[in-house]
Amino acid sequence: KMNYKMVVVGGGTGGCAAAHMFSRKLGKGNVAVIEPADTHYYQPLWTLVGGGLRKLDQSAQPMNKVLPGACDWIKDSAVQFDPDNNTVFTKHGYEVKYDFLVCAMGLQLNYHLIKGLPEAFDVDPSLCSNYWDKTVIKTRPAMEAVTEGNVIFTFPNSPIKCAGAPQKIMYLTEEYLRQSGKRDKTNVIYNTSLGVVFGVKKYAEALTKIVQERNIQVNFRHNLIEVRPDKKEAVFEHLDTKEQKVFDYAMLHVVPPMSTPEALWNSPLVNESGYVTVKRETLQHTKYPNVFGIGDNTDIPTAKTAAAVASQTGILKKNLAAAMNGHEIAGKQYDGYTSCPLVTSKNTVIMAEFDWDGQPLETFPINQAKERRTMFHFKADIFPQMYWHMLIKGYWHGPGLFRKAMHLGMSR
Ligand code: FAD
Repeated sequence: KMNYKMVVVGGGTGGCAAAHMFSRKLGKGNVAVIEPADTHYYQPLWTLVGGGLRKLDQSAQPMNKVLPGACDWIKDSAVQFDPDNNTVFTKHGYEVKYDFLVCAMGLQLNYHLIKGLPEAFDVDPSLCSNYWDKTVIKTRPAMEAVTEGNVIFTFPNSPIKCAGAPQKIMYLTEEYLRQSGKRDKTNVIYNTSLGVVFGVKKYAEALTKIVQERNIQVNFRHNLIEVRPDKKEAVFEHLDTKEQKVFDYAMLHVVPPMSTPEALWNSPLVNESGYVTVKRETLQHTKYPNVFGIGDNTDIPTAKTAAAVASQTGILKKNLAAAMNGHEIAGKQYDGYTSCPLVTSKNTVIMAEFDWDGQPLETFPINQAKERRTMFHFKADIFPQMYWHMLIKGYWHGPGLFRKAMHLGMSR
């Protein structure tokens, strides 16, 4: 049995930042993090790792180096939540009690919902996926092995983290095929479960132009349901007509369906879809005032990104502190800010920034729907530094103040 002032479940982007902010405040021995993984990954770099522009180890740090020294790391998985008794149960049988709980468990990758996966990754070098540390390293070699045929990219039928990532790797691959003289013998195909190329109109228009100019075939409402590595076939179901279509592939980049981690599903903390229910502006749980949620595992209706988590850390810092002090939660609250640097080539990015209503919320007073080299530099060089040195230490709460300054106070 263990007892803490505050327990954080998950030591990823949001959990790590929460642990830092509150260990500083509460002091040694008062905060615990339940997290089973040895390695903390900066997942946004995986687009560039898959594209062969960065190495996997550049995205990794040992968990004990990123978690604050002043917190207790319980290296275990949460398996059950009993918020009526302020208790989390772990896989190895610990009962961890808390005064305050932060749920930051991210999303679970459900490759097993696609017939043939994940096993087929082991036998077929042309199958890859930037979403998993085991398979992101297969992407660049798969790209290089293509000589001709269909090069296919998927988007699953579920909410996912970083909704731009399924197509970012497609642009990097298309550019590589073009520059290595193989583009004429290949078809680049984007089979997406969605009915649009991107959820925000302003950026969808820019991306539609790019896919047309680069002769990329987009098939809407196509959902990957089976992979047959022996025949190099991928089976897609049309989500409206239910018709099945078989595509041959020379390379297949799979984005798996995602959900919250299974441990949450039967708990009183979640809605019928398994997401932790929080008040979207304050991050406080809808039923348990001593529980907060941050990041991908919450039901906050905004695109799930590390950039969104950054903005949420500032809100969590203020509101959880208020709750701990018995004060009312007040003042400026979360506006749904999120951002998706849409990598369109090995040196350009469209820097999409928007809120939960799909309204652009751009930091710079320039048109960010344009492909820009400066924005690639932010994505590839500046953001990783900001992540390791500021975001996960709880010192970066998003660009809101910069945006206001850049727009001379005329922005929200
Ligand atoms: P995570 O950082 O995923 O952390 C969740 C943690 O919970 C993990 O450490 C996990 O081990 C732990 N956990 C899970 N289950 C349990 C359990 N039962 N008990 C205890 N711990 C548990 N974001 C951007 O802002 N920009 C980008 O360009 C971008 N690109 C991306 C590209 C790819 C390929 C991927 C995969 C992601 C990308 N993201 C991007 C998204 C970003 O990485 C996530 O949105 C962000 O990391 C979410 O933070 P989180 O704390 O909610 O979850």
